[in-house]
Amino acid sequence: MAQLANDCFAYSGESLTVSEARALIGDRMSPATGMETIALGLADGRILAADVVASLDVPPFDNAAVDGYAVRFADLDPDITTPLRLLGRQAAGGPAVRLDGTRGAVRIFTGAPVPEGFDTIAMQEDVAFKQGGVTIPSGLQKGANRRLAGEDMACGATVLTAGRRLGPAEIALMAALGKPDVTVRSRLRVALFSTGDEVVPPGVALRRGQVYDANRAMLLALLVRCGANVHDLGILPDRRDAVAAALHEAAASHDLLITSGGVSAGEEDHVRAAVAEAGSLIFWRLALKPGRPLAMGVVKGVPFIGLPGNPVAAFVTFTQVGRVALACLSGESRDPALPFEVRAGFSHRKPGGRRDYLRARLRLGPFGLEAVKHPADGSGIITSLTETDGFVELHETTLAVEVGDRVGFLPYTALF
Ligand code: AMP
Ligand code: MG
Repeated sequence: MAQLANDCFAYSGESLTVSEARALIGDRMSPATGMETIALGLADGRILAADVVASLDVPPFDNAAVDGYAVRFADLDPDITTPLRLLGRQAAGGPAVRLDGTRGAVRIFTGAPVPEGFDTIAMQEDVAFKQGGVTIPSGLQKGANRRLAGEDMACGATVLTAGRRLGPAEIALMAALGKPDVTVRSRLRVALFSTGDEVVPPGVALRRGQVYDANRAMLLALLVRCGANVHDLGILPDRRDAVAAALHEAAASHDLLITSGGVSAGEEDHVRAAVAEAGSLIFWRLALKPGRPLAMGVVKGVPFIGLPGNPVAAFVTFTQVGRVALACLSGESRDPALPFEVRAGFSHRKPGGRRDYLRARLRLGPFGLEAVKHPADGSGIITSLTETDGFVELHETTLAVEVGDRVGFLPYTALF
């Protein structure tokens, strides 16, 4: 982080591109959390702390993929149907069928172990049943409808790597390996503040000139979705000494400090000065819209992120840049979401050198999926988020979008 602070000088006065900011964060921030072992049932959304190596084959034994009849392929006539005696019955979880090597078929059910020496399963729908025997159809492939031991996971294989965010599928995988618990990264302890003399919490009467604190509730929800343990530390006044003191105190017991507001260039924007006083300031301008002002820094060794005050700008900078810092500090390996291509249902102009995040709704038009830009561009228009499905991401080199162009779309749900 000290190195990160030094790099600040190279960028001061200029804007950082989104990629530069992400790369800088990725290079310099490392996991700040310890590890803990938790029950698998509580693991959804947590970050895996160590690789998972399969300690057994999954499936553990060759088994039937269908209900039907197990046969030895060598007993079948490839060109005509083959009548076979019925030798026994093998149910899933049932006792092993006793066989003495005679030619014949075994009634078998999905998930039941394939009897020793048998290799192929005929589906019951294809088999004619006669008293005491069955007729197996011709044309069956050797090994048909048999699931091999270890075909999903082979014993000794690395099946999940550390840093993976666990979801239902990863949990299923570990359960299938017989693991009742899992070692994960401890939750990142995040101190969250709003700033601004005009900002008041929901629930109190609004006086003239005041606005309700939208950012704290929004960021709390975003951070919780990212798996953080968030301490809501309220609203700080527009006073450098008060902000500096609060950050200094919070640094003692948190892994990350986040504020919103007060990071622009106005003389009432005291957050940057407070960070410079309490620690060191890193960079504060991003070539991104909405959300140009973004401060990063270190207070007593603890990373600090100062998001812009306008709610949409705070949402964009958190999801596009802050999220990367959160992942690095949480020990999560995570690539930025890949946009998928849709047709632009709007036209738009923008300057070069800046990345724009337009809020857009998806609709199915005559030419396929189409993004329709929200009419309001303002960085404080919260309805531009609630009335849309995601961002159209326009890169630094894009200057214009015309109706019918292909554009990259990032659904909100992919961002946290
Ligand atoms: P600032 O970055 O402090 O100059 O704030 C930019 C704009 O965002 C101003 O209109 C603020 O009133 C508004 N704002 C700042 N913080 C919040 C907040 N927590 N909730 C809603 N609006 C805010
Ligand atoms: Mg302010």
